[in-house]
Amino acid sequence: SKPIVAIVGRPNVGKSTLFNALAGENISIVKDTPGVTRDRIYADVEWLNHTFTLIDTGGIEPDSNDIILSQMREQAQIAIDTADVILFMVDVKQGLVDSDSKVADMLRRSHKPVVLTVNKVDHHEKFLADVYEFYNLGIGDPFPISSVNKQGLGDLLDQVISLF
Ligand code: GDP
Ligand code: MG
Repeated sequence: SKPIVAIVGRPNVGKSTLFNALAGENISIVKDTPGVTRDRIYADVEWLNHTFTLIDTGGIEPDSNDIILSQMREQAQIAIDTADVILFMVDVKQGLVDSDSKVADMLRRSHKPVVLTVNKVDHHEKFLADVYEFYNLGIGDPFPISSVNKQGLGDLLDQVISLF
């Protein structure tokens, strides 16, 4: 069966924007029990003779850092349990945030393949230096992308399929 790739990261880092950029029109929504967990959104994505199932695990609008962290942990655990590759997304404009480090620790302990995706690198020269900060997460090389401009997606997908 097809490998599963799950996108994990804090609210507003751009997970759904990347998902939509990669998914095109192949989107299906799986509704969860309201108020219990959340809808999961699936799409089949093709890249260089590989087809994989991409999952966007968005959350409800959180209103505190505690809730953000507990949602991220839940989301990361689902990804660890179900995905073959985890796409962990951070935001270059926000920089490295404490909850990013906590989730990165969780992902590292899981020994699942992780692709560290640094989003919102819209202006390459301006932000590239800031990308290096994310080496401190200790989960490998950061892949700079701009989901809105669809930049860096080829290198990102090459890395994803190399981990199947
Ligand atoms: P999610 O909560 O992680 O799913 O994030 P969204 O995909 O909903 O995006 C949150 C906000 O970030 C939206 O306003 C997006 O337009 C914006 N955004 C997403 N990707 C980029 C990007 O590459 N560059 C910039 N500048 N903004 C982005
Ligand atoms: Mg979203």
